[in-house]
Amino acid sequence: MLTLRFVPIASFCLSALVLGGCQTTTSGGSVGADRKQLMLVSSQELDQAAAQAYAKLQSDASQKGVLNRDQAMLQRVRAIASRLEPQTRVFRSDAPGWKWEVNVITSNELNAFCMPGGKIMVYTGLISQLRLTDDEIAVVLGHEIAHALREHSREQVSQAIAAQTAIGIGAALFGFGQGSADLAGAGYEAFVATRFSRNDETEADRMGLELTARAGYDPRAGVTLWQKMIQVSQGGRPPQFLSSHPAEASRVQEIQALLPTVMPLYTAARGR
Ligand SMILES: [Zn+2]
Repeated sequence: MLTLRFVPIASFCLSALVLGGCQTTTSGGSVGADRKQLMLVSSQELDQAAAQAYAKLQSDASQKGVLNRDQAMLQRVRAIASRLEPQTRVFRSDAPGWKWEVNVITSNELNAFCMPGGKIMVYTGLISQLRLTDDEIAVVLGHEIAHALREHSREQVSQAIAAQTAIGIGAALFGFGQGSADLAGAGYEAFVATRFSRNDETEADRMGLELTARAGYDPRAGVTLWQKMIQVSQGGRPPQFLSSHPAEASRVQEIQALLPTVMPLYTAARGR
C-alpha cells in the first residue's frame, strides 16, 4: 500500500469518482472553467464551518470597534456586491440564493476575500490606499466571489485530506471524519486560502472579469487594478492580499487578452 502514497491527485481523483468525489462546481459562462475538481468534503460542511469562522471574525472586529465603522465605504461596497451577486447565476444556479454577507473592517491591511457560501470581507486599506474606483472594487469582489463559486477552498481542503490519507486508500475513501472535525475549529484564514494555486488565480481572474462586465462595471478596470497592485508590491512590504495574489505583468496581459470577450457583456449590461 505504500506506493499509494505517491499516486498523483489525478489517479486518486479517478478512484474518488466512484463515490462522486470528482466534479466541477460551475458551468461555463463565456470565460469560465471546466477543470474537474477533487472534492472530499461536502459544500454544506464547508459552508457551515466558514459561516462560523466569519461570525467569529465579525465579533472580534466588533469588539475592537473596527467593524463597519466607515458607513460610507460599507454602503459603497454593499452596493457593488449587490450588483455582482445576481450575475453569479451564469456560473451556478444556486449562488444567487446563497446567504450573502458583506462587511467592512477598518484596517490598514490591503485585503479582501469571499469565504465559501458568499461571506465577503473588505479591509478599508485596500480601497483607500489604492484609491480604488467602483469598477476596480467590482473587479476585486468579482475575483473573490469567483473563488467561492469554484469552491477553491473546498478543493484545497480535499487535497489536504487526500495527501494525509493517501497512505491508506481505504481510509481516504471511507473515513473523511478527521478532515471534517478539523474544519469546525478552523479560523477564517483556512477558508480564504492563504495560498491559492496560480491556476485557481487564473480561474478567478477570468470568471471575476465576466461577473464584473455582466454587472455593468468596466472590466478594463482589471488592468488598472493590477497595475496599482504591481506598483504597491514594489514598495517593500507586500500587502496581505498580494501574498496570495501575485502581481505579475503576465496577469495584466491575461486580463487584457480577455477584454474582447467580456467587453460586449459590459456594453450590453450598460444598455439595459
Ligand atoms: Zn485570488
